[in-house]
Amino acid sequence: MSKIDFDFMISGAGLVGSLLALQLSKLNFKICLIESSDFEISLNEENLFNPLSLNYRSKIILEKYNIWSQISQYAHPINKLSIKHINNINVVSFGAEEINLDAMGYVVDRYRLLKIIRESVKLHGRISILENSKINNIERKNDHVCVQVDSDDGNRLLAKKIFISEGASSKFKQLVSEKSENIDYAQKSYFINCDCDFNENHAVQIFNKHGIFALIPYSAKSLNIVMSIKSDFSNLYFENNKPKTDNILDIFNQYVTNVKSLRFVNMHNLNTSRNDEFYKDKIFLLGNTFQVLHPVGAQGYNFSLRNISSIVKYFANDAQSSQNMDSLIEEIMRDREQVITTVDFATKIFSSDKLFSKTLSKLFVKSLKMSSKLRNSFIEKLLGIYEYPYLDTDEKL
Ligand SMILES: Cc1cc2nc3c(=O)[nH]c(=O)nc-3n(C[C@H](O)[C@H](O)[C@H](O)COP(=O)(O)OP(=O)(O)OC[C@H]3O[C@@H](n4cnc5c(N)ncnc54)[C@H](O)[C@@H]3O)c2cc1C
Repeated sequence: MSKIDFDFMISGAGLVGSLLALQLSKLNFKICLIESSDFEISLNEENLFNPLSLNYRSKIILEKYNIWSQISQYAHPINKLSIKHINNINVVSFGAEEINLDAMGYVVDRYRLLKIIRESVKLHGRISILENSKINNIERKNDHVCVQVDSDDGNRLLAKKIFISEGASSKFKQLVSEKSENIDYAQKSYFINCDCDFNENHAVQIFNKHGIFALIPYSAKSLNIVMSIKSDFSNLYFENNKPKTDNILDIFNQYVTNVKSLRFVNMHNLNTSRNDEFYKDKIFLLGNTFQVLHPVGAQGYNFSLRNISSIVKYFANDAQSSQNMDSLIEEIMRDREQVITTVDFATKIFSSDKLFSKTLSKLFVKSLKMSSKLRNSFIEKLLGIYEYPYLDTDEKL
């Protein structure tokens, strides 16, 4: 038998691949992490903030992985969330104190978090990092995969299993999943940093016929404006990516005053994708390669963190020689079903202008206000602690 070089190869050292590499290496597995760009992250000089909202469960996972202590000084807590549907006169608000937590979640800069995770990866001796490299070919053998990496003098590396976390455009998706669904929301997602006066720990989400709009504070003086605008309306708010300040602020006038500056951060077209399978015969799809989710509700990385937690737990408990992935697959697919149902509900029902959707969303908001059971279950889903005893999470992580 050929000599196996690694227990796991991980292709793509983003927020997902880097953290998984770190945690699997702490279990003494031998890891090779492949990244197509430079591994070193330099934070942007213009001081722009790229928001990543982490829910309560994500904070607990990062705490357990010793990452939270390094990012916490840069993390801004959110303890109140208001959701407003423009067709409803009412606003529905949720507070962390309703379920005895001090924060519903936190906002961090995604590149700062990635830098922290990658620095921890570098400190860990058991991870071989191949930067500016890509996999050309993956071949399945009986008990391992044979991987050809372009930078490594065409060398073939052998690993027991491989995770593909190199983003949505990975050419290896079809090795696992035959069906890939692409969704074009015909929306553009804009991020703006805004210095102004506002309620420091209060996030707001507004649904109207032009799209989905959110205010996400990231310090006492600054917040992110995140706008997922239907393409037909984007010129109402932007001209060549230049914000039309008055129109934008009009949406938020109830929540924001004394605006000092607006800084355009970036824009994405909202094309997402979903693969129907997570694992097949020694190859896993993870993070954006597995699915890209609409940013409503900020679910993507929070879901991937739960996946990482499930995978790490699985390989910690079960000998890596185990060929039976059924329980792991079932756990992850069940979680994903819930996440996708929530995202689809919000994008189809809350942001649609059709009469049926308007009626349904009105009823939903009304029920949230009247039923404390529904409120609690909604908050728990939002925070990723649904079906988990959140005050006793250690057992489950
Ligand atoms: C607009 C928007 C807002 C979002 N906001 C939130 C939020 O608030 N909260 C939340 O939980 N989630 C959010 N998400 C989702 C979150 O960004 C993703 O879940 C997360 O970034 C996925 O990370 P990843 O590591 O899978 O992929 P990526 O971040 O895409 O990383 C892929 C890595 O692979 C590398 N790579 C690419 N090609 C190759 C190759 N061929 N070989 C090797 N390496 C390669 C890349 O350089 C990169 O380092 C948002 C997403 C969007 C689009």
